[in-house]
Amino acid sequence: MSIHSDVFKTISQELKEKKVTLVAVSKTKPVEDIEALYQLGQRDFGENYVQELVDKQASLPTDIRWHFIGHLQSNKVKYIAPFVHLIHGVDSLKLLKEIDKQAAKNNRIIDCLLQIHIATEETKFGMDQQELTAAMEQLEHFPNVRVCGLMGMASFTDDQEKVRAEFKSLYDIFNTSGIGHLPSAILSMGMSGDYKIAIEEGSNMVRIGSLLFGARIYS
Ligand SMILES: *Cc1c(COP(=O)(O)O)cnc(C)c1O
Repeated sequence: MSIHSDVFKTISQELKEKKVTLVAVSKTKPVEDIEALYQLGQRDFGENYVQELVDKQASLPTDIRWHFIGHLQSNKVKYIAPFVHLIHGVDSLKLLKEIDKQAAKNNRIIDCLLQIHIATEETKFGMDQQELTAAMEQLEHFPNVRVCGLMGMASFTDDQEKVRAEFKSLYDIFNTSGIGHLPSAILSMGMSGDYKIAIEEGSNMVRIGSLLFGARIYS
């Protein structure tokens, strides 16, 4: 077993006190590691790849809340629509439309977060302010989707003030867009390296992987 139990206990206690939801990011990690964290009481897990999520969901306890946090392709929504708890990275109307369609097929309403582009890096996905406004105006056409918040990723940098400024900008958008005023609105920001700053800047859901499961090895 390779999970960092002591780190988990410390972080989950800290987050509980601050009323911040911990999503344990288990991508590339074996089901045994997820089970170990489950035994310690963790129920929210995040995955980035559709096939990996589908396989893990089938072999793990049914009361796990599965978060899809990766970049979701429209043609793969159907595989996770029956069970996914929250889709974090919705960044286009095309994707919203497909989630709505697949949610309807499964007789459910799927909770989603719109991903906002806050990093200066070209590689990070997400909407800008204008696209967000346009998407918000279309939501009535997607009755089987519930947009309950925003998600964003800061730049990958050691410059903490830059990271803080990016989180601040997302918190700003969260409030000015009106989404932040919804009951139990979610602001998903913060990862292993920057979750403390994210919480100081208003995050109420963090996605933490390597601190809990160790570094990921991609082969
Ligand atoms: C992988 C990933 C995380 C977790 O990253 P860590 O640095 O390991 O905590 C969080 N959010 C997203 C969107 C990810 O892809």
